Amino acid sequence: MHKLTKVLKHRVDTTNADPVVTPIYQNSAFSASSPFFYTRKNNPNVEELEQVFCALEESAFAVCCSTGMAAISNTLLLLKPGDHLVINQLIYGCSYVLFERFCAQYNIKLSVLDLSSNEGIEAIPLDVSMVLFETPTNPFVRSIDISNVSAKAKAHNPNALVVVDNTWATPLFQQPLLHGADIALYSATKYFSGHSDVMGGVLTTNSDGLAQHLRDARFYHGAILDPNSAWLLRRSMQTFELRMKAQGEATRIVRDWLAQQNGVEEVFYPTIDGVQLTGYATLLFFTLEARLSEKYDAFIEALTLFDTGTGMACVTSMVARPYTGSHASMNDAQKAQMGLTKQLVRLSIGLEQIEDLIADLSHAFEMIQSNE
Ligand code: PLP
Repeated sequence: MHKLTKVLKHRVDTTNADPVVTPIYQNSAFSASSPFFYTRKNNPNVEELEQVFCALEESAFAVCCSTGMAAISNTLLLLKPGDHLVINQLIYGCSYVLFERFCAQYNIKLSVLDLSSNEGIEAIPLDVSMVLFETPTNPFVRSIDISNVSAKAKAHNPNALVVVDNTWATPLFQQPLLHGADIALYSATKYFSGHSDVMGGVLTTNSDGLAQHLRDARFYHGAILDPNSAWLLRRSMQTFELRMKAQGEATRIVRDWLAQQNGVEEVFYPTIDGVQLTGYATLLFFTLEARLSEKYDAFIEALTLFDTGTGMACVTSMVARPYTGSHASMNDAQKAQMGLTKQLVRLSIGLEQIEDLIADLSHAFEMIQSNE
């Protein structure tokens, strides 16, 4: 055989290699006899990660996508023209814009309700096809009763789908499928990654039919997670519970400290009812007192241990202004309708020493109030 043919064809024999973790299958093609077929359809790293999510969610199926938004888009593809989508008013800004655009383009009715109230749940329309909401919500971490929403929607239409964006609770603290949701979805970019270095999305369900639809949509729309990201996410999941618990503990200390602070108007932290939501990790909101609204930027700049930007739920602490960050794609009227003001601060607490974080926050509060 010519040496250049050998260059092209040579492969090391890995039959007995037996690595202790699954290597990255950085390939697009598999041989014709392989069950994986083609990486846009399936890949061993993606499948392993999906099995991990099934174990955590106690679900029959998991479908991993390239980002959280890809997971949401994949879910929207279950809708058809003439259907009626219901969403909660408090929702991630990009999700809101996607719902508006998607529904306008495909002639789907869109209703925006406050599902954290009984009146909102009562207002779920008779022709509902899908209800999609986050709980706790982004922003304000308000809770929505999944079983009440599910009961109402399915009483109107037994085929209505209930989809919960469970990114902020994660399956460690809330399992939407046990409370009547058909699909739980996640931005894996947040807690599952935890290190601000990989993007991903996850859909979990107990329905074989829904899983088939979601996989099919992922295949034809090219929305599968890539093998490298799947491998990184799988590694991150080894420390998931430890990170969640440590960040949760630190966040509760910051929450209680903020509640005592001069200059803080209100702290937003979810209600842990022990039934639907059994715990919480990080991500909390607070409003600066109105008298300090002009000092917002100075407050953020005075913080040295909190990085700014869109990252959150990661091992390093972050600070962000939802008004111009996570909800920048919504217009002022939409933000006003959801009660989103420029005074709202979002904190994500990482794994730094808690006394350092408190000292940093304390210093920032002193700075903005020193020459009042
Ligand atoms: N869902 C929630 C609650 C989010 O906060 C985000 C992003 O911040 C998304 C979905 C979208 O996820 P991704 O950024 O991974 O596409």
